[in-house]
Amino acid sequence: MFTLTNNKRPTHLGLYPLETLSRDENIISVETERAQQPSAAWKPSPKSLARAAARYKNIFSPLRQREPARQKAPVPDDLPRRSIDIKGCAYFLDTSHVGICSMPENAWYDGMKVSGHSHAIVMLVEFGRYPEDDNLSAQWLEGVEQEVVTVRAAEIAAITSGYIAQLGYSARAHWLGETDVDMDRLGVLAGLTTRDGVTPINPFVGRRFVLAVVTTDYAMAIDTPLKHIHRSVKGIGYFFGKKGVVSGLERWRRNRRRSDLGIFPMETVKRVEKPTTLIFDEEVPRIPQRALFYYRAELGDLGDKMIKERWRWSYKHPVAQGVLGILRAMVPHQDGEVAADIAPNTEDAEANSKAIKSLSYYLGSSVTGICKIPEYAWYSHRQDGSRTDPYNKYAVVMLIDQGQSTFDGASGHDWISGSQSMRSYMRGGEIAGVMATHIRQMGHAARPQTNVDSDVVQVPLTLLAGLTEQSRIGESALNPYLGPRFKTVILTTDLPLVVDKPIDFGLQKFCDSCLKCARECPVNAIPYGEKVMFNGYETWKPDSERCTRYRFMNDKGSACGRCIKTCPLNKNVTLDGPLLVQIGSWLGVHAMWLKPVMAPFAAWLDDKLGNGNPVPSKKWWLDLEIIDDVCYPARGVNYEKINPNRKINAKLQKIAVYPASTLPPPTELNPFIADRKSAYAMWNELEKPAEALARHERREPAPAHSKLQWSTEG
Ligand code: SF4
Ligand code: SF4
Repeated sequence: MFTLTNNKRPTHLGLYPLETLSRDENIISVETERAQQPSAAWKPSPKSLARAAARYKNIFSPLRQREPARQKAPVPDDLPRRSIDIKGCAYFLDTSHVGICSMPENAWYDGMKVSGHSHAIVMLVEFGRYPEDDNLSAQWLEGVEQEVVTVRAAEIAAITSGYIAQLGYSARAHWLGETDVDMDRLGVLAGLTTRDGVTPINPFVGRRFVLAVVTTDYAMAIDTPLKHIHRSVKGIGYFFGKKGVVSGLERWRRNRRRSDLGIFPMETVKRVEKPTTLIFDEEVPRIPQRALFYYRAELGDLGDKMIKERWRWSYKHPVAQGVLGILRAMVPHQDGEVAADIAPNTEDAEANSKAIKSLSYYLGSSVTGICKIPEYAWYSHRQDGSRTDPYNKYAVVMLIDQGQSTFDGASGHDWISGSQSMRSYMRGGEIAGVMATHIRQMGHAARPQTNVDSDVVQVPLTLLAGLTEQSRIGESALNPYLGPRFKTVILTTDLPLVVDKPIDFGLQKFCDSCLKCARECPVNAIPYGEKVMFNGYETWKPDSERCTRYRFMNDKGSACGRCIKTCPLNKNVTLDGPLLVQIGSWLGVHAMWLKPVMAPFAAWLDDKLGNGNPVPSKKWWLDLEIIDDVCYPARGVNYEKINPNRKINAKLQKIAVYPASTLPPPTELNPFIADRKSAYAMWNELEKPAEALARHERREPAPAHSKLQWSTEG
């Protein structure tokens, strides 16, 4: 924490210093000879949150074992390298500990053995921050933590199993209530737990955890069991984060905070009545999902090559394939019946808001805020052309961290890039899905709005819920503590709630002087110049078509998030981050008068320190590409450093824009070719914010290009 740059702890070692503990090989024979245990009886709880969790576990069940790819992937013969990959993946998915052991015969329950499965990957997922006694969510969680946390454990195990299957090996996931193996025994053998009597205990998290296991025929280097230690392992080194782990000090800071506030001090950020960028509510057109470039590419508006890549671009790495199964499985379950009776204690908006935020943090949200949903934030039509009528009053907006350590190891547009996005979208869908199911069971309407199926436009809701400010990246808004390193999920609901106010942390001034994302974008899609008005919003308008084309066609990686990777706000600002970053972050949020001087200096210093360069020690994944369901060695890898010497010139940059008047109609399923030449010309038609403000004050109508060519009533 006293360094100048991010620590270099390899991702595959995790967030606790497990590797520093003593090991004892003798325990292998003790555990292997231990009498076979009967399958544990499992009685699900009837409580609402447990039933919501069970619903999601059941969604994941069919994905416990997937058909292996028809051809084995070119994985290394080096078993320790395989373990780095598998452990890195498990930590990327937010397990607390992971270990690997050989599969002893008597760890299988009778008749359950899967032939050939010689190894077990054991994952330990710790419980979240338990809410205070007077927080309603404490009642929801009481007695059901194990069941709730098992959703995450099951998800991680199912993804790992899917990943190994995509490598061409056999793998089967096991978790509480659906296991063919004695998970407690495997936890000891894999070096994650010791026995206190017969009960497993972990030296760092005690008994507050659940286990999940993946058995497989994929051979990896194995771990040695932990020596049973009678003293505390949390010494002075642990407290100060020796070896680059999450320090005891940082964990203490988090636990001292109120559970509904989350880990970042968002309550200290200046609040304002309106977002810091203009939004002319009545001028924002309600657009159809058909107009999103992602769908336009799928339907052929950007040419045939893009159609070919549409199922692949973000999923052409085997980790992403593991995630994809879960992501797709959840979609049909986004809607559900609302219970006829309203549960007691759910009419107090203030108590509900605290409880909903605490629950979101317990389940894995990084930052949560609440706002009302303005009409313009609803899409006019769904992908299938059917009309969307606004149906919920509130949005619970959650930001899901894309994972600091893996981002440190990545270039932003290499082979893990697509998996980074999909992991966060998937996690968001899971969190919002469990919460929505629970809220509906308590008699209030609720729906998760996910990246795969959302009826609401997400960026403006992150502004209104007080989580972000608009940034130069344009289609990403930034949070003061996560920067752009997150994906969004939204839970819309009619549960009575209290809304938050928008924030002002001076980002408009920062992005004015910092052009790093624009400089580092591989295809010049981010503007170097000033903000414009686009469809009723003040924004830096990127060339979304160019960005989409690159993300689809990137042939030395999967998708792209290089702007996220290289942004100076993509940092670890906790007590474990570099001291300079902590100071800079504090000044950035609290000393806004310093911003005009500090922003250019901070951007310059960020380059000087080499921030934004990939850190090879943190890279855990294998560079593989899936073609026709089979993994091949990647044809090339984008893994470059930042380029501070690159010359940029706003006057020479050409940006194509497609405002409302140029968009395809909602029901048009044939290609609606994007006319790039007109889109370049359209850039000159866009108003500057000051011009738009003056016009607005004169009560003159919005420019014709920001109006749709059809009625949203149809
Ligand atoms: Fe540029 Fe990649 Fe960011 Fe798109 S995602 S704007 S291509 S850096
Ligand atoms: Fe703003 Fe700089 Fe981040 Fe771009 S890189 S979003 S300009 S702070």
